[in-house]
Amino acid sequence: MKLTFLGANRNVTGSRYCLEANGKRVMVDYGLVQERDHLSRNWETCPNGADSLHALVVTHAHIDHIGLIPKLVADGFRGKILASRPTVALADVMLKDSAKIQAEDAKYKQRRHRKEGRTGPHPPSALYTAKDVEKALQLFRGVDYRVPTEIAPGIIVTWHDAGHILGSASLEVLVREAGRERTIIFSGDLGQHDKPLIHDPTYFRHADYVVMESTYGDRDHEAFGNVEEQLEVIVNQTIKRGGNVVIPVFAVERAQEMMYFLSRLVHKNRIPEVPVFLDSPMAYDVTNIFRRFTSWLDDETVRAIETDEPPLHFPGLSLTRTVDESKSINHCKQPCIIMAPAGMCNAGRIKHHLRSNISRPESTILFVGFQAVGTLGRRLVDGEKEVRIHGREYRVGARIEQVFGMSGHADRTGLLQWLNHFEQPPRKVFLTHGEEHAAIALKKSIETRFGFDVSIPEYGTEHEFNDEGPTLVDGSRPNAVSLSRRPTSTAIDVETNGEAIVEPVSVNEIFSASPEDPDLEFLDSSTRRPVSFLHEDPWRVLRIQSDLIQGIEVMTRALEGRRRAVAVFGSARLPESDPSYQLAHQTCQLLGERGIAIITGGGPGIMEAGNRGARDAGSPSIGLNIELPHEQTLNPYCDTSYTCRYFFVRKMMFAKYSGGFLIFPGGFGTFDEFFESLTLIQTKKLAQFPVGLVGSEFWGPLVDWLRNVVREKGCIDDSDLQQFKVMDDPHQICEWLDQVVT
Ligand SMILES: [Zn+2]
Repeated sequence: MKLTFLGANRNVTGSRYCLEANGKRVMVDYGLVQERDHLSRNWETCPNGADSLHALVVTHAHIDHIGLIPKLVADGFRGKILASRPTVALADVMLKDSAKIQAEDAKYKQRRHRKEGRTGPHPPSALYTAKDVEKALQLFRGVDYRVPTEIAPGIIVTWHDAGHILGSASLEVLVREAGRERTIIFSGDLGQHDKPLIHDPTYFRHADYVVMESTYGDRDHEAFGNVEEQLEVIVNQTIKRGGNVVIPVFAVERAQEMMYFLSRLVHKNRIPEVPVFLDSPMAYDVTNIFRRFTSWLDDETVRAIETDEPPLHFPGLSLTRTVDESKSINHCKQPCIIMAPAGMCNAGRIKHHLRSNISRPESTILFVGFQAVGTLGRRLVDGEKEVRIHGREYRVGARIEQVFGMSGHADRTGLLQWLNHFEQPPRKVFLTHGEEHAAIALKKSIETRFGFDVSIPEYGTEHEFNDEGPTLVDGSRPNAVSLSRRPTSTAIDVETNGEAIVEPVSVNEIFSASPEDPDLEFLDSSTRRPVSFLHEDPWRVLRIQSDLIQGIEVMTRALEGRRRAVAVFGSARLPESDPSYQLAHQTCQLLGERGIAIITGGGPGIMEAGNRGARDAGSPSIGLNIELPHEQTLNPYCDTSYTCRYFFVRKMMFAKYSGGFLIFPGGFGTFDEFFESLTLIQTKKLAQFPVGLVGSEFWGPLVDWLRNVVREKGCIDDSDLQQFKVMDDPHQICEWLDQVVT
């Protein structure tokens, strides 16, 4: 067994380790290097050969742990990538964003080099593209905490909560080789205790080897008292002055933590109910991931959700996505709280909000995280009186405040406490992921306090584990280890008391099953397995029933049992600038003004336009989302939303709760609704059901074909087509629907 250290050695970013056993290579993390001095490593191909790797396991979704994966895939990696289920969802958002940043950086570099007539040390192109990201995402599969998974022959990995960000993990790796069994624990990034939303880090009793982070190895976080109380005072004072509280945040974790604190203050009436904006498309997506993975959050959060005080939904909160929405925050007439990235004010929408608030003495700029040297955030915290934003000088009139105590990393005491739970000394502790001075300081503390053997590996060094490990009971031949023997987890876990809860799963099982759920397997084209969605599964019947029952409950409440409603269909791909989007927006607003509720699929494009119109008119705006591996997230204009597991349940609800369909231009999904309504009408299941087709240019040829070819052939009757009306004018559509929808 051999371990090669390929990143975050005597520095913080670019975590990568290669573990070799039984002739297989497995990579642990594949992070982007962000330190200037080592950027060239990003451009090198994987030192072990991308195509020779069997699998990649991931601790968490921060970019310094996953940011180079698309490059690895572009270089030829074809193995499997395993991570906790929330990490897979977050990686989707993080890597797409990373590709965007890469492209922008490359453009900027090209311009600068052209201007200065020189070339840089690296090609002025992106490290990888959005296409590479798509390819990489296809290889990801999610696992649960505490389920041992055999990722390669004799290499069994178990993910345990590391309490750092949503889905973050310490990896317990059991290696069975040459008749011996050894455990290596990769700490991953370790979180602080009592962080909002997520669990505390897991402790372990036993490991032969430990690879551990050391970010804060040389210091403790200062004790600044309760975050909530600090926040309460600042918000109340600012609102009393009539100003806004502007909070630069990171889109992942910090933004959701701030929402958590604000929600508690609002629910307890400790701050007034003012508008709270989270202004970032990325934070919007990440917040939806938090909402989706509720069972991965800590007990306190789950209780808050159960008692109807969900921390990520509270009165006054709006999540804004589009540029228009972002701009409209400026017109908010009353004092408000605005959170936006980037956390250090060096980029992003926060700059716009700073421009409108920085010179106002009644406003407050509130910093909740570390501000690196050279960033705008740091200059403000350091008390500069004039700052440049978007090329213009601004006088700093607003109050600059800081709330401390929100670090995502355990401090020195936390790291030592984590080690304190090992019952016997590990054979060796490797310190990584920390500046050299932090790692050296931590090494000294560990040696003094526990007497463990500690090493701080250099970049590129290999460690051969040729010492005598504990022998297996039946041990003799390499690879001859029977998996029927239960690997006992050394994690200290209140729920399972350290016992591994299940037999190890093979990685093939995970990959041949659906990405998230057995019900979705027939939708997952990446595995190309024969469809078996009718196989016997007693739970399915219950799931279908609960899908339906919950849906009925949600809809009945949303429609107050009697309101008229229209279901709106159309392409998810048409942007706000498309005339059909605008037409849908306007039409649904007019319908809303007549008291008609709008039901859509809850996604972007036409669905968003429909929900937006309803919301503008103050009429119920309902989104019936569907749970798919790559489904679009809910648009921000749904006042009521419900996510169905089953397509047909959603279809039943569209038909049951609307008095008519309004179909805008669209792709396959929209045609599906069109032909389905034709079928329902033809079979008299939806007699007298009005279907408006909006856009004569788009729908005209299809209706002509139905009328002239299909009808003449005798396949459908004249009366079947009578329920369809092709229109273009929003007022005409409205008049018509107002008359026919009951
Ligand atoms: Zn991290």
